[in-house]
Amino acid sequence: MHWHILGAGSLGTLWAARLARANVPVTLLLRNRQRLASYRQGGGLTLVEQGHASLYPVPAQSVDDTSPIRLLLLACKAYDAEEAVASVAHRLSSDAEVVLLQNGMGSQDAVAARLPRARCIPASSTEGAFRDGDFRVVFAGHGHTWLGDPLNPTPPAWLADLQNAGISHEWTPDILGRLWRKLALNCAINPLTVLHDCRNGGLLEHPAEVATLCAELSEVLHLCGQPDAAEHLAEDVQRVIHATAANYSSMHQDVAQGRRTEISYLLGHVCAVAQRHNCTVPHLQFLLQRLQAELSSKGLSTT
Ligand code: NAP
Repeated sequence: MHWHILGAGSLGTLWAARLARANVPVTLLLRNRQRLASYRQGGGLTLVEQGHASLYPVPAQSVDDTSPIRLLLLACKAYDAEEAVASVAHRLSSDAEVVLLQNGMGSQDAVAARLPRARCIPASSTEGAFRDGDFRVVFAGHGHTWLGDPLNPTPPAWLADLQNAGISHEWTPDILGRLWRKLALNCAINPLTVLHDCRNGGLLEHPAEVATLCAELSEVLHLCGQPDAAEHLAEDVQRVIHATAANYSSMHQDVAQGRRTEISYLLGHVCAVAQRHNCTVPHLQFLLQRLQAELSSKGLSTT
C-alpha cells in the first residue's frame, strides 16, 4: 500500500518519517509548487528524537500532481481539512481510504460529505510533536493512536504498516466514543487554562467551575447517544488535571504563540450540538463567549 500524506506539519512529518524508515512507500503532498521547491531544497524531513536529528528524503509532490491516491493520511488542522482534501479529491481512487488525524469533531463529517465514495477513518492520537523549523519536527511525547470506521468494523490490512513503523495504535469499533470523550476532556480543561492563563494544574484552584462544565458536558454526551463517553467524566477530568499539572494545554500553547486555535471543532462544536438538540448549556455557552472575547482581544480568529 502506498501512503500519501497531506500536511507536512507536526503529525504528518512524524508519520511520514517513521513509515519511510520502515520502508513503507510514502509520498508527501504539499500545498503548491513553491512549498515543493523549498522542501526539495532542504533535502527532506528532519525528525528530532531524544535530541538526535535524522533527515528522511521522503518523496514529495504538490497537490496538483495527477497520480492516483489509494490511501491518504490527512494531517492538517481541523479548520483546513475540508479545503485540503478537496484539493486532492480528483486524485482519489474509487476504493480510496482516508485517515483523519484532526482533533475535535465536525471536520470528519465535513470531509466525509466531500468524499462520499471514500472510506473515512477518524483517528484520535495522544502522541505529541511540534515544529522547530520548516519541515523539521520534534517528537515530544510518545503516545497511542486509536483508529476506527464508524460504518464498518473490519480493520484495514495496512495496519501492518503502522506496526512495522513502530506507530503504537489500536483499531477500535468505538472511535466516535473516543473522539467524544477526548473532546469533553478538552472542553473541561483547555479553555479555562487560556482564561486563567495557567498550567493544567492551575485548575485545581477552580474545582466548582470545572465540575459545572463536566455536568453540562455529560448532558450533551447523553443527548448525542454517547453515554459511555459521559461515564465518570468529572473524575477523569480531575485525573488528567493531576497527571498533566505541570503542562500547558495545547490551546494555551496555541494562544501564547499567536496561532489560530481549533475552537470551532472543540468547545464551539459542543455548543453548536447542544443548540441543535435544544439543550441549554449556559456555562459552556458563557465559556465560549469568554474564550472568543479573549482570542479577539489577542487578534486571533474566533472560529
Ligand atoms: P501543523 O503542525 O500545523 O501541521 C499542519 C500542516 O497542514 C501544515 O504543514 C500545513 O502546511 C498543512 N496544510 C494545511 N492546509 C493544507 C493544504 N490545503 N494543502 C497542503 N497542506 C496543508 O498541525 P499538527 O500539529 O500536525 O496538527 C494536525 C492535527 O492533529 C490537528 O487537528 C491537531 O489538533 C492534531 N493533533 C496534533 C498533535 C501534535 O502533537 N501536534 C497531537 C494530537 C493531535 P504549511 O506547512 O504549508 O502551513
